[in-house]
Amino acid sequence: MNELLKKSAAEQSKALKNKEISAVELTNAAFERIEEVDGKLGAFNSLTKDIALETAKKVDEKIARGEELPLLAGVPLALKDNMNLKGSKTTASSKILENFVSPFNATISDKLLNNLVPIVGKANLDEFAMGSSNENSAFKKVHNPWDLNKVPGGSSGGSAASVAACEATLALGSDTGGSIRLPASFCGIVGMKPTYGRVSRYGLIAFASSLDQIGPFARTVEDAANLLEVISGHDPKDSTSLNLPVEHYAAHLNDDIKGMKVGVIKELMTDALSEDVQKAVQKAIEDYKKLGCEIVEISLPNLKHSIGIYYILATAECSSNLARFDGVKYGYRTPDAKNLLEMYTKTRAEGFGPEVKRRIMLGTYALSSGYYDAYYKKAQQMRALVTQDFIEAFKKADILISPTCPNTAFELGAKASDPLAMYLTDIATISANLAGIPGLSVPAGFDRDGMPIGLQILAPQLQESRLFNAAHKFERANDYYLKLAKI
Ligand code: GLN
Repeated sequence: MNELLKKSAAEQSKALKNKEISAVELTNAAFERIEEVDGKLGAFNSLTKDIALETAKKVDEKIARGEELPLLAGVPLALKDNMNLKGSKTTASSKILENFVSPFNATISDKLLNNLVPIVGKANLDEFAMGSSNENSAFKKVHNPWDLNKVPGGSSGGSAASVAACEATLALGSDTGGSIRLPASFCGIVGMKPTYGRVSRYGLIAFASSLDQIGPFARTVEDAANLLEVISGHDPKDSTSLNLPVEHYAAHLNDDIKGMKVGVIKELMTDALSEDVQKAVQKAIEDYKKLGCEIVEISLPNLKHSIGIYYILATAECSSNLARFDGVKYGYRTPDAKNLLEMYTKTRAEGFGPEVKRRIMLGTYALSSGYYDAYYKKAQQMRALVTQDFIEAFKKADILISPTCPNTAFELGAKASDPLAMYLTDIATISANLAGIPGLSVPAGFDRDGMPIGLQILAPQLQESRLFNAAHKFERANDYYLKLAKI
C-alpha cells in the first residue's frame, strides 16, 4: 500500500500541495488498495473510478496553475450507497434498487464535487440503513478490518471499514439511531452525527426523516471537522435544513478545555458494559480530569425508553417513506404479475429483505387507526421527554460522555437471528437522534482481543465546535488513533 494512504486527510492535503504526489496518483493508490483488500472486506458495492479520476485531474490542473485548493481537494472519499451520485448506481444495498442509476446528485455530492473531493465508490450498508452489523445488505456482508470474523457495525459498515482499512481516507455515512457512531467505534475511527438539519438530506434515500442525518467518518477528529464543514449548510431543497452560517469547525480544536464540565451519563455506566469497555471509559474520565475538566454525574431518566420510542417512530416513518418502492417509478418490478395489485405486492415481497419487511409491518401497525394513539402518539410524547432530559443535562454539563456501545464488535452471525438483541446494541446512541443533538465516537482504546472501543461525546444542538474541541483534546491525549487495523 502507498504509505500516504495511512496518513490523515490533513497530511494528504499537504503532500498534494507540496507536489509530493499528484491527486491522480493518490486516487489510483486508493483503487489499488481497494483491489488488494476489498475482496476480504466487502466494503464497496461499486466503484466510481471515472468520477474519482476526473475530479483528481481537476485538482492536479489547479495545482499546476498554482491555484489555491478547496478544503479536502484530492482526498479519496467513500460515499454510503444510500446517497445519490449522478451516473452511479445507488442501491441502498437492496435488491429493489439493485440496478437503479442516479439521475441526479444529492446536495452533499454536489458539495463534495465542488470541493474536488474524489469519490471512489459507493459503500456497502445494511439494507436501507436498517441494522447495526451490516449483515442486512442484500448483496454481501462487510467484515471488520481488525478481525474479519467480526462485524464492522452498522448500518454504515462499509463506510467505516473502508476508512479503517485505508481504502479511503474519508467517508460519509447516515445516522438515524447510531449508524455512524456505532461502526466508527467498532472499526476504531472517528464518526460524527451532526445536529439535525445541519446537513442537507436532499438525495439521501430516506429511512426515518425526522431522525436521519448525514455525517463524516475519518481517522482523526480534525479531518472529521473539515469534512463536516464541506458538507454543511442550508439547502432550499431540504425544508428541514437549518439556515445558519457554517462554521470553520477545525478552528477551535486546540482551545483549552480547562474548566469544561464533562457529564458522565449514569444510565450508561452500568454492569451491562463489558469489563474492557468500562475500563476504557474510566480511563477517559481520568484523561478529562487531567485536561482540567470538571466531572459531573448526569442522569437521563428517560434514556431507558429510547429504544422503544425509536422502534415505533423510525418504523412508522419508514413504512411511509418506503411506500414509494412499488415497481412503478423506479427500481425492481416483478416480471410475472397478473394484475396491478399483484405487481405491487410481488414486487415488494421479492424486492425487500426480511428486516425491511419487519420494519414496514411494525410501522404500518403503529400508524393504523385504533393503534395510533396508543403507539405513535405516545412515542412522540415520550420523545419530547427524552429531549427535555438533555436540556436539563446541558444545564449542568457542557458535554456528555458514555461508551458508544456497551460492547466491542461481535462475531458475524452472533445476533443475526435475534432482532431484539441487535436493537439493544444502540442503547447509547439512539437518544441523540431523538433529541436532534450532535454526537461523535472517538477511539478510546482496545479490548483484550485487540478490538477497538469508542467513546461517545454529545453536545447541545449546534455546538459541533465544542464537540470537536473536546474530542480532539481527548484524541491527542492518547495515541489510539495512530494504530491501524492490520489487514
Ligand atoms: N441500528 C439502528 C437501526 O437499525 C440505527 C440505524 C441507523 O442509524 N441508520 O435502525
